[in-house]
Amino acid sequence: MRFLSVLITFIAIILSVVLGFGMYNDSRDIERFEKETEVFEKQSAIYRTEIDGLTPKISEASAEKESLQAEINAIKKRIIYKTQPTAFLTFDDGTSYHTLQILDILKENNIKATFFVVGTQIENGGSASKEAIRRIVEEGHVLAIHAYEHEYNKIYSSAEAYFEDFAKITALLHDMTGYTPKIVRLPSGTYSARSFCERYAGSRDVYYDIVSRLYAEGYTVIDWNVDTEDYTTATGVDNIVKNAVSGAKERLNREYKAAVILMHDTADTVSALQRVIDGVKELNMGFEVLVQGGYVTRQIAETEKP
Ligand SMILES: [Zn+2]
Repeated sequence: MRFLSVLITFIAIILSVVLGFGMYNDSRDIERFEKETEVFEKQSAIYRTEIDGLTPKISEASAEKESLQAEINAIKKRIIYKTQPTAFLTFDDGTSYHTLQILDILKENNIKATFFVVGTQIENGGSASKEAIRRIVEEGHVLAIHAYEHEYNKIYSSAEAYFEDFAKITALLHDMTGYTPKIVRLPSGTYSARSFCERYAGSRDVYYDIVSRLYAEGYTVIDWNVDTEDYTTATGVDNIVKNAVSGAKERLNREYKAAVILMHDTADTVSALQRVIDGVKELNMGFEVLVQGGYVTRQIAETEKP
């Protein structure tokens, strides 16, 4: 009996020592854990601040990478035009039922082209005009901006007037296609636009205001370097073909063997088109569409006021 009570007492002593020591150890662990947590939280707050600071820099860098890549692609394209003769068929002042005929010929030849369209033409041209816009996009051509109203005395009367008209054509094209084209050709081209601004706005500065704002808003303004003179019926089909092919041939002697061929949405152009294509092909030129930063004719260096 006595032995049992001694044994129980002994066990009790052992247990209390072990448990007491264990509790002591536990509280030390908790203390250490709390300290570690505190350090960890401080550290992660520092990291969070660093991450917050880096995030905009990362998106800035990736945007820069993207724009540099686009620039590299454009430079690559321009280098290609030094060795690889290229023709760009461009059609101004559509769309109409002529555009549908132009699209048929391009389809038969498996060639893509660029269309600088006019708002009033699209709105007044009925279903053919609208069908043409749909087909330009669907068949892989480039839809580009010319003007809403092709009226020099209106659009060149001030920069505000120009951009009022510009907003109307971009809204119309956005409504019809879901996107805003970025390639622009000024009615009558940049050279004449200067004179029109002088005449109707009283200053050439208005021209520079227009073009520099277009560039600032991400648009690319592209003229032509081969004029078929198809804007008048006086030229005739044979001369349209001759002007296009001889003009393209002349570009083969230049540093950039790129012919941006100006044509219009006319019946004579429809009649001339197959012969223009055949003649240009005989010069061993390929066909391309105009893209931002790709081949740009004369005016790009002239957006700054002299
Ligand atoms: Zn025009």
